[in-house]
Amino acid sequence: MGATEAKTVHSPALTYFSMLSLLSLCPPFVILLWYTMVHADGSVVQTWNFLKQHGLQGFLDIWPRPTAIAWKIIFVYGAFEAALQLILPGKRVEGPVSPTGHRPVYNANGMAAYFVTLVTYISLWWFEIFNPTVVYDHLGEIYSALIFGSLIFCVFLYIKGHVAPSSTDSGSSGNLIIDFYWGMELYPRIGKSFDIKVFTNCRFGMMSWAVLAVTYCIKQYEANAKVSDSMLVNTTLMLVYVTKFFWWEAGYWNTMDIAHDRAGFYICWGCLVWVPSIYTSPGMYLVNHPVNLGSQLALYILVAGILCIYINYDCDRQRQEFRRTSGKCKIWGKAPSKIEATYTTTSGETKTSLLLTSGWWGLARHFHYVPEILAAFFWTVPALFNHFLPYFYVVFLTILLFDRAKRDDDRCRSKYGKYWKLYCNKVPYKIIPGIY
Ligand code: NDP
Repeated sequence: MGATEAKTVHSPALTYFSMLSLLSLCPPFVILLWYTMVHADGSVVQTWNFLKQHGLQGFLDIWPRPTAIAWKIIFVYGAFEAALQLILPGKRVEGPVSPTGHRPVYNANGMAAYFVTLVTYISLWWFEIFNPTVVYDHLGEIYSALIFGSLIFCVFLYIKGHVAPSSTDSGSSGNLIIDFYWGMELYPRIGKSFDIKVFTNCRFGMMSWAVLAVTYCIKQYEANAKVSDSMLVNTTLMLVYVTKFFWWEAGYWNTMDIAHDRAGFYICWGCLVWVPSIYTSPGMYLVNHPVNLGSQLALYILVAGILCIYINYDCDRQRQEFRRTSGKCKIWGKAPSKIEATYTTTSGETKTSLLLTSGWWGLARHFHYVPEILAAFFWTVPALFNHFLPYFYVVFLTILLFDRAKRDDDRCRSKYGKYWKLYCNKVPYKIIPGIY
């Protein structure tokens, strides 16, 4: 019950404040970030001075209007991804049982879609059919179109949740803003098999991250006839991360984003706009800043980044393997230590979940966020330290994941009660072992 739970995590005043702030501040922020990266040398001071001088009118002037070419790029890309989601073969995968006892079924074809997307995109460039620099040159218009288009899409989700919910995991909190922000449906679908959250989160959002990473690399190559080592490290690490994501996509369908958070502004607008703009921003910065690191430093950063991505993957893998085998697996070479946690579903049924208390999950209750944040740092650090803005994503991710750890702890505490308390006694640290 994502919507109602999320609402109770913070006080009502803080919930409203953060919702309204995000709703009103995120769209202009996306535009300002793009403007600063592309037209103001990545310098926040330069953008600030411009705004001080030209005021609101100046801001309106830099906000690009969505153009026909921007809409065309978005629709062709979206339609291509939707078609791949529907057509490509994949294994039948069942998601976790929802609070109302519903179990979603998926077609796990993410890795195939990822492969087809990148091969198609790079081939279009290679055979001179479509040049990705067109995407970079219209990036502001694309973000502008995405901002408005995704808002309309969230209104559609809100209306669909009211008039045609796809499953029993839906409903209104009784408050329009909360319903719009947190969403109405946990598993909205079009027809029987087109899962909207798989499309918005994975096939549009995460896929755009890889597509834009490649775009930035090609743009730098076309502008300078070579790609700097900093750009190579950044692009490689981001692509390794996104590859890991699609390799593990069926696992993602068991996480909070899919199994607990409903489809609303928070998740869907975030994946449709925030991921393509903010998550890719270190690469956006590097296009016009071809920093030369030297091969030794570049290699160190690359190896450190890959190690962090691997550890993050292994944390998720460990938890899922442990759950999949009902604890009958080896964790770091030994039988896992665990807690059998009983809970009651909304329909009054009593069920049991296993909580892993060894391996990565014995270090801290959300240790997997540490390598996630460090990996983001390593694909940003090739930008060096001339400007703060490339590090915005790392700072944002740190705040997001610390908040997420609190949201998840609160949800698990209310779900598992005394068993969660037992887990907290056994594994006292929330994220950073020995510190927090
Ligand atoms: P997960 O969904 O993987 O884990 C949380 C859930 O796991 C809990 O809600 C609980 O669910 C279950 N759980 C908690 N403790 C245990 C335990 N000890 N043993 C077994 N199960 C347990 O977390 P996230 O969705 O936050 O993270 C998934 C991945 O996505 C991570 O790699 C994370 O770094 C990444 N991520 C990246 C973000 C980004 O923007 N870059 C944002 C968020 C996540 P249950 O009810 O089933 O018990």
